[in-house]
Amino acid sequence: MSGAGFILAINLFVAGLLASAFMMIAVYDVRRISARWLALAYALGVAYLAIEAVIPLMSNARMAVVLGFATFLGATIVLNVGLAHKYDSMPPWKPMLAFLALATLVVYFVQDLPRHSLGRMMAYQLPFGAMQFAGALLVWSARKRLDRLDYGLMAILSVSGAHFIAKPFMAHALGGWGTDPQAYLGSTYALFSQSLGTVLSISLALLILVVLVRDVLGEATARSETDALSGLLNRGGFERHAAAALRDAVRQGLPVTLVISDLDHFKAINDSYGHASGDRVIEAFSHFIHESKAGHHIAGRIGGEEFAIILPGTHLAAARLFAEGARSAFSALPIQGLPASCRFTASFGVAELVAGEGIDQLLRRADAALYEAKKDGRDCVRLAAGNMAQLPADSNIVSFGGKPPSA
Ligand code: GH3
Ligand code: MG
Ligand code: MG
Repeated sequence: MSGAGFILAINLFVAGLLASAFMMIAVYDVRRISARWLALAYALGVAYLAIEAVIPLMSNARMAVVLGFATFLGATIVLNVGLAHKYDSMPPWKPMLAFLALATLVVYFVQDLPRHSLGRMMAYQLPFGAMQFAGALLVWSARKRLDRLDYGLMAILSVSGAHFIAKPFMAHALGGWGTDPQAYLGSTYALFSQSLGTVLSISLALLILVVLVRDVLGEATARSETDALSGLLNRGGFERHAAAALRDAVRQGLPVTLVISDLDHFKAINDSYGHASGDRVIEAFSHFIHESKAGHHIAGRIGGEEFAIILPGTHLAAARLFAEGARSAFSALPIQGLPASCRFTASFGVAELVAGEGIDQLLRRADAALYEAKKDGRDCVRLAAGNMAQLPADSNIVSFGGKPPSA
């Protein structure tokens, strides 16, 4: 077996493994359509390599060469369909299939040109380059949501595209691609081309796999941190995101405030209207919080009918206004499915981060302020003063809200 033939056998095996890896992701997460197309792309890669392997055994290889070309171009097209699904754009099926038909026809006819003519080589290689650049453009179309891995993928697709276009020149520099298709695998160029192709296609596949695994893990983490009933972060998710927001705010020298709230007399709501209606109130309050908060705020359901919102870049006074606005608007909100005259209220505690504090201490101080709001008759906002440890007992709460604080 020639050196290039040996590399081809390895490529065939690796392409099969990659197709299986994408298939496993597709089976693990059936909604991930992109993984199915990527599996098909690498399966077509296996078919193309199998055709390449049998060409040296044929007396007239013209149709096999054309079929091999169409199969490999088909693989690059299917890869682009996978990328389009991954990056949420419409796969450009029509132009890509028209391109496949036209390029295959051209490759059929250029077989009549001298084997080493630049035109014949270009007709064979340029379409692969064009499809890899089209893949890079599909990634670029989602540029607002890309991170470094996606840009790396774009870079590899572009390098791979450029390598296909450079191939005819490489072939010339290395003494041609064999006197006939059967001799191709024995040429120095074939060894070089197959090796370079292996490095690029494996790099490309591994990077796409890493991108898909990143997405799968990211979504699994988001699911595990989301509360099903409210759609807000659950306690674990809230604490993790809040701790990160606190660290960011401290690093940037910005204030950060925590608002916590608890629905009033919720047990009585369950008792009067049933548990399902209680759930509806939780949903309505969560929806209300979600609509009221800004994009950089972090909101979570941290207990049965307890909620918390981190307001980065916000001082205590502004957070107090936010809480007061939420309190007064919620108390006027009718809840769907419950009697039209029913109104529900919530109590709020607000605390601003002080130097050296972590999320646990901040939560504790906000909780103490919330407790004061409950004690003061509910449906009101109470503020925690500075760090409790630095203050005399019972001086940690200053009041603000619909009802006067108790003396
Ligand atoms: P307060 O004004 O002092 O907060 O009184 P409360 O009745 O709201 O407080 P308490 O802690 O006594 O009761 C909270 C209730 O919330 C008890 C529990 O059955 C109910 N609860 C907790 N989680 C859920 C939930 O997911 N759905 C429903 N429907 N009820 C829940
Ligand atoms: Mg309550
Ligand atoms: Mg409670």
